[in-house]
Amino acid sequence: MNTGASAKINLLGLTRQQLEAFFAERGEKSFRASQLMKWIHQQGVTDFDAMTNLSVALRQRLNQEAEIRAPELVTEQCSADGTRKWVLRLEGDNAIETVFIPESDRGTLCVSSQVGCALDCTFCSTARQGFNRNLTSAEIIAQLWFARRALNDSAESADKITNVVMMGMGEPLLNFNNSVAAMELMLEDFAYGLSKRKVTLSTSGVVPAIDRLKQVIDVSLAVSLHAPNDELRDQLVPLNRKYPIKELLAACRRYIDGKNHKHTITFEYVMLDGVNDSVEQAYQLAKLIRNLPSKVNLIPFNPFPGTGYKRSSQIIIDRFRDILQQNGLTTITRRPRGDDIDAACGQLVGKVQDRSRRAQHFMRLEQSAIIEREASI
Ligand code: SAH
Repeated sequence: MNTGASAKINLLGLTRQQLEAFFAERGEKSFRASQLMKWIHQQGVTDFDAMTNLSVALRQRLNQEAEIRAPELVTEQCSADGTRKWVLRLEGDNAIETVFIPESDRGTLCVSSQVGCALDCTFCSTARQGFNRNLTSAEIIAQLWFARRALNDSAESADKITNVVMMGMGEPLLNFNNSVAAMELMLEDFAYGLSKRKVTLSTSGVVPAIDRLKQVIDVSLAVSLHAPNDELRDQLVPLNRKYPIKELLAACRRYIDGKNHKHTITFEYVMLDGVNDSVEQAYQLAKLIRNLPSKVNLIPFNPFPGTGYKRSSQIIIDRFRDILQQNGLTTITRRPRGDDIDAACGQLVGKVQDRSRRAQHFMRLEQSAIIEREASI
C-alpha cells in the first residue's frame, strides 16, 4: 500500500462548499473552488500542473497535499442495444458497476452508492453479494466523471449523459452524506450542472432518511414499491417490516408537499410472475397510490443465476399496466436494457468482499437445495 498517496486529500468528491473550506484553510480565495471544479469535472483533468489558471505556488502545494483520484477501469462492455457497463476497481479489492443507457431523447447513467447492499430484497442479485462498505463521495461522483470521459473517448458526446439515477448497487439513503455530496456535485453548475428533475435517488424506503433528504437537497425521488400490501412487501423488501407501506407513502407525500406541483414520486414495481402481477394486485396498487402525484415504472424482472423468480409475461404486464392507466396512473413499462451484458436492473453485482456473510449464506442455501434435490431423485 502506498501510504504517501493515501495521506493526500482526494478532491474529486468534495462539494463546492467543502472545496471553499479547503482553500480558505490554505489562505486562498473562494473562487479557487469553482476554478478547480471546472478542471476536474468539466475538463476531466487530474494533473494539477495542467491547471494553468492556478499559480505555480498553488499547484505545487496541491501536488504535495492533495490528489484527484478516481477508481480504475477493470472492464468495459457494450450491449447490442448500446447500453454500456463499466466495472471499476476500488481499494480493498472490491469492484462496482456503472451503466449507461442511451435512448433517442436522453442518456441515463445508473450509479452505485455502496459496495454490495445491506438490504435483502429477494429478487435482486446485488443482495446476494452481501455488503462490504459505503462508497465515498469521490467513488460515487467518479462514476459520472469516468463515464463522461469514456463516452468522449469513444467519440460519443459526453453530453449524452442527461440523467443520473442512483439505482445501481446499494441503498443510497443508507449512505446518506456521501450520496448527497455526490448529488450536489451533479447539480453544481461548476461541475455537471444537471437539472434537479434529472437526478433521481431510488430507495427501498428508508423513511426517516426520506425526510432528511428533503431538508438538504432537491432531487427526484423513486421508491421501490414492488407490492401493493404489507404482507407481500414484507417478503420482497424486508425493510418493509421496519417501515411499512403506510409510513412510506406518508413520507413520499411529505417529500413532494410544498414543492412545485409538477413534482411526482416514481414508484418502481418489478413484475414477478405469479407473485405481484395479478388483476387484484393491480387494483390494490392503483387504490393505494391514486391520491399521490406519482407515476409507475413497471420493470420486467431480470433473472440471475439461482433465482426462483420468473418474469411476468408481456400479456400480464400489459394487463397490469392497463388497469393502472384506467385508474388514472401514468404507467410505463421499462424496456430491459443491456441484459445481454448483465447490466439490467438487479443484475449488477460488481465484486464484493462480503462482510455480512450473505453470499456464504446463499451458497449454503443453494447447496442444501441441491442436496435436497439429489436426495429426492
Ligand atoms: N436500493 C435502491 C436502489 C437500487 S435498486 C432501491 O431499492 O431502490 C434499483 C431498482 O432495480 C429497484 O427498483 C430494484 O427494485 C430494481 N431491481 C432489483 N432487482 C431487480 C431484478 N432482478 N429485475 C428487475 N429489477 C430489479
